[in-house]
Amino acid sequence: MSKGKLLVLSGPSGVGKGTVVAELQKIRDDICFSVSATTRAPRPGEEDGVSYFFVTKETFEQMIEQNELLEYAKFVDNYYGTPRAYVEQKLEEGMNVVLDIEVQGARNITREYPDAVSVYMIPPTYQELERRLRGRGTENEKQIQGRLKTAIQEAKAADFYRYIIVNNNLNEAVNELNAIITAEKSGYNDRKNILKEVFKL
Ligand code: ADP
Ligand code: 5GP
Repeated sequence: MSKGKLLVLSGPSGVGKGTVVAELQKIRDDICFSVSATTRAPRPGEEDGVSYFFVTKETFEQMIEQNELLEYAKFVDNYYGTPRAYVEQKLEEGMNVVLDIEVQGARNITREYPDAVSVYMIPPTYQELERRLRGRGTENEKQIQGRLKTAIQEAKAADFYRYIIVNNNLNEAVNELNAIITAEKSGYNDRKNILKEVFKL
């Protein structure tokens, strides 16, 4: 069995990353989602250990010191980071692991893991992004403005991603991410063991 793929998914807050991954998980059972640690406060409906591990700044800094994070970054006033142990274990088990992370962390990860599959998700228009962010109803006006401003800065720095998905129609976006993963899992290196088995090489 080949190792799973590390899927780095980024895109502006509110573009629909969480929604697309949740839909994809309904049709593929080889995908799991890495739950990040963050110092930001939970939004209504967010559960500790499901959406995030909500931790204090002190705990987060301790995790950094003890090398428990695969990567981390500061995003609009808060720390966010990927717990290392879960990701490494799942990849070993052959699961594809999705990291929903911002651009700075994504850049660090893709440097360290050149095989990581990086995908940048964008909205069909900037106005639609604003509409989705407001429609979600989980941030106040100041936070919405901060996230919209960050979206432009991030887009400028997104030149290293391997793929771009435009999340206009939800089903199409899910199908595109599905197709990317399927293609990436079909590479020679991933399949050479099957080749050897079939031809007894
Ligand atoms: P992110 O994880 O990128 O911050 P979410 O998955 O929370 O974004 O989605 C933000 C909002 O946009 C949610 O209310 C979600 O239902 C909505 N949304 C996601 N994808 C689409 C789409 N293709 N068309 C319309 N609304 C969408
Ligand atoms: P939100 O507060 O909307 O949940 O997330 C804000 C931003 O932090 C998003 O761009 C999201 O992708 C990013 N993010 C979430 N978890 C992590 C993480 O573990 N590491 C990094 N670098 N970014 C993260």
